[in-house]
Amino acid sequence: MAKKTPAKDTEQRTERHENESVSPLQYIKGIGPARAAALAELGVRTIHDLLLFTPRSYLDRRTVLPLRQIRIQLGGEEGLPDQVTAIVEVKRMQLFETGKGRKRLSMRVADATGEANLVFFQGAQWFIKAFQPGDLLAISGAPEIFGGSLQWTHPEMERLEQEEERMIHGGRIIPQYREGAKMKSAGLTSRTMRTLMENLFEQFGPEELAESLSDKMIAAHNLMPLAAAVRQMHFPDSEESLARALHRMKFEELFFFELGLALRKEIVRTNEPGISFDTKSDLSRQLLEKLGFTLTGAQKRALREILADMALPNAMNRLLQGDVGSGKTIVALLVMLVAVENGYQCAFMAPTEILAEQHLQTLRRLLEGLPVKVVQLVGGLKKKMREEILYDMRNGIANIVIGTHALFQDDVEYQNLGLVVIDEQHRFGVDQRASLRNKGRRPDALIMTATPIPRTLTMTLYGDLDVSIIDELPANRKPIRTAIRFENQMETVWEFVRSEVRGGRQAYVVYPLVEKSEKLELKSAVEHYEFLAEAVFSDMKLGLLHGQMLWYEKDDAMRDFLERKIDVMIATTVIEVGIDVPNASVMVIENSERFGLSQLHQLRGRVGRGADQSYCILIAKDHFRYQLRAGMSQNEARQERKAVIRRLQAMVDTNDGFKISEIDLELRGPGDMVGTRQSGLPEFKHANLVTDGPIIAEAREAAFAVAESDPDLANPEHETIKAAVASALRRSMQYADVG
Ligand code: ADP
Ligand code: MG
Repeated sequence: MAKKTPAKDTEQRTERHENESVSPLQYIKGIGPARAAALAELGVRTIHDLLLFTPRSYLDRRTVLPLRQIRIQLGGEEGLPDQVTAIVEVKRMQLFETGKGRKRLSMRVADATGEANLVFFQGAQWFIKAFQPGDLLAISGAPEIFGGSLQWTHPEMERLEQEEERMIHGGRIIPQYREGAKMKSAGLTSRTMRTLMENLFEQFGPEELAESLSDKMIAAHNLMPLAAAVRQMHFPDSEESLARALHRMKFEELFFFELGLALRKEIVRTNEPGISFDTKSDLSRQLLEKLGFTLTGAQKRALREILADMALPNAMNRLLQGDVGSGKTIVALLVMLVAVENGYQCAFMAPTEILAEQHLQTLRRLLEGLPVKVVQLVGGLKKKMREEILYDMRNGIANIVIGTHALFQDDVEYQNLGLVVIDEQHRFGVDQRASLRNKGRRPDALIMTATPIPRTLTMTLYGDLDVSIIDELPANRKPIRTAIRFENQMETVWEFVRSEVRGGRQAYVVYPLVEKSEKLELKSAVEHYEFLAEAVFSDMKLGLLHGQMLWYEKDDAMRDFLERKIDVMIATTVIEVGIDVPNASVMVIENSERFGLSQLHQLRGRVGRGADQSYCILIAKDHFRYQLRAGMSQNEARQERKAVIRRLQAMVDTNDGFKISEIDLELRGPGDMVGTRQSGLPEFKHANLVTDGPIIAEAREAAFAVAESDPDLANPEHETIKAAVASALRRSMQYADVG
């Protein structure tokens, strides 16, 4: 670090040896080792990090409400905004013993308009020491009315000075910084942070905050210059300039993230030549003719996009996204035939063996009479069989190989692999995607996912892939009818299932993971299996399917279901990526309130695959009754029940996976959505994947335009961008040195 001054006293030096996470910040006036360590815990290690340390919220006249007002709004129709803050004075504190050595602290606070209680169950001892009557606090959180009083439980709190209160009432906006326990004990309150920032800004701002974008871009996107934006972020002059500053910070972050993706893609494109396929194919045409249906508009569009990509001399990296049943497999097969006709082999990778087998059957059926050899490579093959298949693959006798991960084990060789199709990508990690690419020469890759996710997420999760979307179901499909029922209506639900089964159809009954523990999942499905077999479906054949069964047990169970040896399949979510049983027409999902909407949609996709009308019945726990018993007030229980219905109602209203995923994203955030869990979502400091869609799109377009027109960033116009990329790299390397 240029600004680092050598440590003088021995104490500091010892500290440095002992403490791995020593950061250059400790040498800054006003920081020192303890504060530096507290900041390092939050990932703030350099001057640059600290300058960009974003306030977690802001206090201003808009967000600070008088207690009386809060009380009125809380009881009123429109309710309170999410972020509500009050500035109050501590009146008195009282510690209660609540048994088993636990304590509860009740703090009475007031402002000029009224009084409220703050309640703490944890850290009561600490709070009673840390605060005193007369202290001025800014408290934020969700208040409620309890025993006639306005009450906050464990609010976020910060001590304020009289002067700050005056500043707020005078129209100033005051940033609030995150305060871990460690920061508090190191004396890093929002107030000290503000002072620190002031000094830091004077001293290092001009150097550390050199403009990173070109003048042209700043003008084109109507952005605030970087240094000004950072200053406004810490010391806002007005609401408007704060909003513009935060917008710039988001754009900045997203632009450089997307630029990284775009440059990586350019490098791959220019350095790793792929295959240029001739996309006129007799085989595909023959298949199309014998299909017996015409492709949907969306399938045709996806096909055109994929073929155009395959014709290019670079390796294709494309995501094919479409709801369950939208007809991705047929599109994949059509393009595989193009590769085959060009003399290349195709690998078709499925997430499970049974799916691989189903694909094999589908492909063999569709390809009957065509000169295409399809083989299957899965685990657990007899040695001789496996060797034969490997021989066919090595010598180019096999044209299409279907399998699981076994397709890319070390001893597997292809004669000339030209196209890799990966089905249900979300079951494969990013590493596996990478290992595929390294196998042999550079084949084209088509990744199929039945998890519709919002475009903004696709752009960040699969940012280096091109995307084709099938957003239309074949016309002959009957939309699945979905209904919400409560636990006290189970009798009619089971009767409905019985009548469907009597009519010749089959059904699924799905149980959630009761806890994250596999053991509990097992118990739940097994228990209900026994109960249902005895008390509900005693005259029918029941099957059981859960994650703790061995793979061949699962396969056997699914095969029995497929062959109608089972009427009702009791299952956990392992059927989410299951096989296709067109005769299954009912799906009952128990405890549906525990699932995310995207996952419910995924489950629902297991039915509705045949010609019959299909049904999905979402069973919700009757919170109303349950919670009244558990001690909730009638009103609270009613609210809870309403919230459950409101959420599940989205499933009733639409069968469109993309719409559902948008709602799910809003309700649960990106981390909890199906398909994003194992994919390693990037963490952004400023940007929000849920609400910043338009900025993501804008920044992405700008970044890709730069990378495509000037992949070396050699154009003088991109000098500032290049310098910013270089200094970000330098910073990350310097930090690697320190750590
Ligand atoms: P996905 O892989 O997207 O889940 P599939 O490719 O398995 O969907 O297609 C589901 C079913 O719909 C298959 O039986 C398939 O033959 C059929 N299908 C596909 N495209 C069409 C279409 N355009 N018109 C009618 N049926 C279609
Ligand atoms: Mg499929």
